[in-house]
Amino acid sequence: MLVMKFGGSSLADGAQVKKVLEIVRAQAHRRPVVVCSAHKGITDALIRAARQAASQGIADAEPVVQRQKQVMAELGCQEDLLDAELGELQDLLRGISLVREASPRVMDHVQGFGERMSVRAVADFFTRSGLAAKAHDAFDLGFITDANFGAARPAAGFEARVQAAFQVQVAADVVPVITGFIGKTEDGALTTVGRNGSDYTASCFAAAVGAEECQIWTDTDGVMTSDPNLIPAARNIPEMSFQEAAELAYYGGRVLHPSTLIPAVRANIPVRVLNTNRPDHPGTVITEAGGKPIGDVTSIAYKKNQSVLTITSAQMLGQHGFLARVFEIMGRREVDVDMVSTSEVSVSMTCAPSVHLDRAVSDLGALGRVTVAHGKSLVCIVGRDLKGVHGLAGRAFSALGDAAIPVEMISHGANAINLSLLVDDRQVEFAVPALHHALFERA
Ligand code: ASP
Ligand code: MG
Repeated sequence: MLVMKFGGSSLADGAQVKKVLEIVRAQAHRRPVVVCSAHKGITDALIRAARQAASQGIADAEPVVQRQKQVMAELGCQEDLLDAELGELQDLLRGISLVREASPRVMDHVQGFGERMSVRAVADFFTRSGLAAKAHDAFDLGFITDANFGAARPAAGFEARVQAAFQVQVAADVVPVITGFIGKTEDGALTTVGRNGSDYTASCFAAAVGAEECQIWTDTDGVMTSDPNLIPAARNIPEMSFQEAAELAYYGGRVLHPSTLIPAVRANIPVRVLNTNRPDHPGTVITEAGGKPIGDVTSIAYKKNQSVLTITSAQMLGQHGFLARVFEIMGRREVDVDMVSTSEVSVSMTCAPSVHLDRAVSDLGALGRVTVAHGKSLVCIVGRDLKGVHGLAGRAFSALGDAAIPVEMISHGANAINLSLLVDDRQVEFAVPALHHALFERA
């Protein structure tokens, strides 16, 4: 079997879905399992509708209905194909507008309509185009999750459930078209795995059915040496290791959701990133071993809007266990820390801004003076063995120095797979091109 995941841009309109049909048809002999996101823009529109219902008491499903019906019309679907889902959405928005509140649980229910609708439209179109297909909600095929709304994870034993469900519900000659992004708890509440999470759903299914490959179809030629929107000279990376790809995804590489690789690594299933608009391009294949490195450095990713928290305390001087106390608080408050740097009397760390961070900051006040700076960007240079690269830091820092970009923090992982730097958000669009030029474009 082959898992093929198509993201929102691959399903943006009728013309895109037609490309997807031909891509899947060409692989029909490999027993494709298709995982779909919502059509581009629908998830955002659903979130806006729910927020408007909660904050202003206005239940307006029209933007979502219009957008979905437009795609359906382009695909020649019957107009009433999604009446059940659209009716349920209208009722739910009305409920939110009455109680004027949208809890994380309700938000997950609202967001899930995008995928529930897209799979039905896509399967209907495939079938009418001569490729027999059937729409499935992931939770009906065993994707049962915990109740961590907004970031749900599959419940223990879900793989066996998926296998059992496939036996009964998925015929060998009918392509299953499965919702990405959503699941259900044991007691029936709808959940989501987090924004952009359909990649993760795809690799969970790939692991569960023992797929030969998990394909992520997107709108770039696989994984690139940097964000092609920022760097026109960005190049495709033909092969990379799970470790490099995970590092990139986590540090803001836009192509893969950071959790995508976890199930694939566990089941050792290659993940291939491909371009729906150029299906003949080989894209990027991500495997345990990775391929021949393309150079000293594989890619440069960045993550904007990060915060830096600094604790300064004389208590640190000659003390044991100070960092343990700091990280105990960060752990208890559920703050993910990315980069850390310490001196004799202070420790700085970067993380995403959140209410968790605000709570941690107030607890950390007991340990020392705490300052928080916002609007910073984490820039991450990823490579196979950066430690062995002669003069890398020199080249990186002189490029930034020449461009007069101040570097506020540095970290070079001991695993030597990444070199991370912190710059101001206003500098990132200069910093990334300067680094890309120095590390990729200059021989
Ligand atoms: N539709 C969801 C989102 O926009 C999930 C996904 O696209 O992967 O975040
Ligand atoms: Mg995506």
